[in-house]
Amino acid sequence: MIERHGTLFVVSAPSGAGKTTLCRAMRLRLPELAYSVSVTTRPPRAGELDGVDFSFVTEARFREMLARGEFAEWATVHGNLYGTRATALEQALAAGHDVLLDIDTQGAAQLRARYPEAVLVFIVAPSLKELEQRLRERRSDAETEIARRLQRAREEIALWRRYDYLIVNRDVKEAMEHLASIIQAERCRTGRLRLTLPDLEVSE
Ligand code: 5GP
Repeated sequence: MIERHGTLFVVSAPSGAGKTTLCRAMRLRLPELAYSVSVTTRPPRAGELDGVDFSFVTEARFREMLARGEFAEWATVHGNLYGTRATALEQALAAGHDVLLDIDTQGAAQLRARYPEAVLVFIVAPSLKELEQRLRERRSDAETEIARRLQRAREEIALWRRYDYLIVNRDVKEAMEHLASIIQAERCRTGRLRLTLPDLEVSE
């Protein structure tokens, strides 16, 4: 019998690095992974559903939740507020579920401090040029917004050493293999397990 507390996997990447596609693909690859629906003051994009992609709230409501200490981490990203609710996250981990979070570098640092066991993964596009091209292909953002996101990408990439793992996203399939391998390897770490075999005395 192997018992395990859930592991928190935190994935950060500059926008356009392909993180959302990757996290979506991971849901199919490892369906047992739990996800947290972030709270944000950003307006929904076309096709985004409230309660599924994000919980979309007003700034007043966000600040109310913040004052009540409801967030495990929160940050201002591209002028909007984003946060992860602590209760649902901690309940999932305590129940032994691994949780994958897609959050920015400020939030990742807060989670590292709050949950030292968390595994932090940073995703980068192969080059800034490629990143810019991906941002343009998205077409959901205006020119000034693209410039803002590129500047922020430079600042975020500078923080890559704070993460446990780095994945260069040249190809979604390859990047997904790397992320799945990281998750599987972390699940096997002895420090995360309690082992009890019925026919063998095993010390802790
Ligand atoms: P977008 O609005 O483009 O979906 O996401 C913008 C950025 O916000 C991304 O870098 C994403 O990882 C980050 N983000 C999404 N949810 C959260 C959250 O709950 N907390 C933090 N700190 N960042 C988040």
